[in-house]
Amino acid sequence: MISVSDALDTLLDLVSPTAAETVPLRAAAGRVLAEPVSAKRDQPPFAASAMDGYALKSAEVEKDAMFKVIGESAAGHGFTGRVGAGQAVRIFTGAPIPEGADFVVIQEDISRSGNLITIADHPGTSTNIRPKGGDFQIGTTIDAPRVLGSADIALLAAMNIAQVPVRKQPTVALISTGDELVLPGDTPGPDQIIASNTFGLDALLTAAGARVRILPIARDTESDLRTAFELAQDADLIVTIGGASVGDHDLVAGVTETLGMSRAFYKVAMRPGKPLMAGTLGQSAMVGLPGNPVSAMVCGHIFILPMLRAMLGLGTDTPALLTAPLAHPVSENGPRQHYMRGRYDGQTVHVFDDQDSARLTLLAEANVLVVRPPKDGARAIGERVNYLPI
Ligand code: AMP
Ligand code: MG
Repeated sequence: MISVSDALDTLLDLVSPTAAETVPLRAAAGRVLAEPVSAKRDQPPFAASAMDGYALKSAEVEKDAMFKVIGESAAGHGFTGRVGAGQAVRIFTGAPIPEGADFVVIQEDISRSGNLITIADHPGTSTNIRPKGGDFQIGTTIDAPRVLGSADIALLAAMNIAQVPVRKQPTVALISTGDELVLPGDTPGPDQIIASNTFGLDALLTAAGARVRILPIARDTESDLRTAFELAQDADLIVTIGGASVGDHDLVAGVTETLGMSRAFYKVAMRPGKPLMAGTLGQSAMVGLPGNPVSAMVCGHIFILPMLRAMLGLGTDTPALLTAPLAHPVSENGPRQHYMRGRYDGQTVHVFDDQDSARLTLLAEANVLVVRPPKDGARAIGERVNYLPI
């Protein structure tokens, strides 16, 4: 049995970043920028008015000063002339500041009569001008890697980057195994349950940037399992669920062996999730997760998500654990690292009494996994413990 951190190191060694591809701007949302990109223009491309008002010379700005309005500068239609002494140009937000002007008096501070305006109120010291290139300039860079959020997409658009280099989405094939499983929506027989793990993992991994395929459920026969692996062989990562321990119907280890998998390890000192196997199968990394629903999901958080991040080029650092005081005492931990379902309410963390690895209701209620190292001693109320938000 190996430690969680050794297992994670080994798993991260099984994968590498996917290739880059170029996608249209709108398709880049949520994707990982693969290489730095640079602005192709200045923004704003000219000194621009930040307000609706009148552009004139700052040296002439004082209360009660009068000016003659000689034209207009609107967004998309600049004023082509020059502002001279005693002159002003009507201007709107986003419009170019005309030559000769270096100040915009906002319209609220102006009284106008025909073509004459008077500064009726103290206009303050802000010029109300956005300088050319004040947001970004040609060559301003967005660094990679970076998960592109909505603000990044807006920025890329403003930079006139219509095609974006991103990491290919890693493909993950999920294989549920078991004679007892049917799909959600099907009518289960009296001895059957609904396959839940593939759907939970699909949601987890898709949200984190994977392209997930859920393969047909493999019955507990070698040929079914073999067919599933054949269907999965072009995936970057194959994840099986269930059939990974040593029961009579646990076939994953045997079948992967006959398919030539070089096995990296088999068991990890953790709860839940001890029977976990991993290796390489052809071109794909392969991880065999335990079948118990909570175990499968916890292993998804602890192992599969970091592998996915590595494949997305986001590095191999595991997310830093947070700490919070316990709402109540917890007893000594056993020899395996325990990921305990619990709830953090913003003040203290409450560890659930029932840690049954088959109970999805408790996992759905949890918003943290409290991480207890092997042999961690009993902990008193108020003592700080490490947790991973989920
Ligand atoms: P196994 O590792 O195949 O012995 O499975 C352990 C437990 O997890 C059994 O109770 C299985 O019925 C259950 N299980 C296995 N795969 C799934 C799945 N995809 N969804 C829900 N439960 C599962
Ligand atoms: Mg099974």
